[in-house]
Amino acid sequence: MPLVERQRDSQRKKLYRAEDVAFYEPFIPGEARKSVFGRDGLSVAEAQSFIDGILDSAWFRDEFQVSDRRDPLVEVVAGRANSSARAGGGIYTGRISAPAWARREWVLLHELAHIVTRTAWGPYVAAHGWLFANVYLRLVGRFLGLDAEAALVAAFDAGRVKYGEYESPEPEAPVFDGRPVALTLF
Ligand SMILES: [Zn+2]
Repeated sequence: MPLVERQRDSQRKKLYRAEDVAFYEPFIPGEARKSVFGRDGLSVAEAQSFIDGILDSAWFRDEFQVSDRRDPLVEVVAGRANSSARAGGGIYTGRISAPAWARREWVLLHELAHIVTRTAWGPYVAAHGWLFANVYLRLVGRFLGLDAEAALVAAFDAGRVKYGEYESPEPEAPVFDGRPVALTLF
């Protein structure tokens, strides 16, 4: 038995359901799903500049205690059509694979939250556990806006998705008790 076991990803389905409720317009058969918040239908280049804008922001570096010595770098690629969105690597050598359906801002934030969570806490925490949900909420609050954040908090609460202590991000007064230590390089 390994010394450190990967936590079971026990709230993944609940989190997906909550996102669906908070971020998708009602499903209309035969039509592409529209998001309530943020842009849909981004090109790979537009998705890349959305991610770059986040990584380059002073807020991001401060909120996640990114080292001053190295710039975060996350590459967006298209991946295979109709496959799942995926996130690999850490914030210095990360990759988001986002086929057309996934090139919408909230999905990109979801994938970026995986990269941040893995960089801060390592590969053994639950992929969609409370640490992930907390990082995701902070990114949503900052980059999709407070209405989007409120919708996601409400859906998390209704769907019993754990996300730890959370208040809306305010650059001058970060409030999250479980802040990650400085992001390590792996
Ligand atoms: Zn995920």
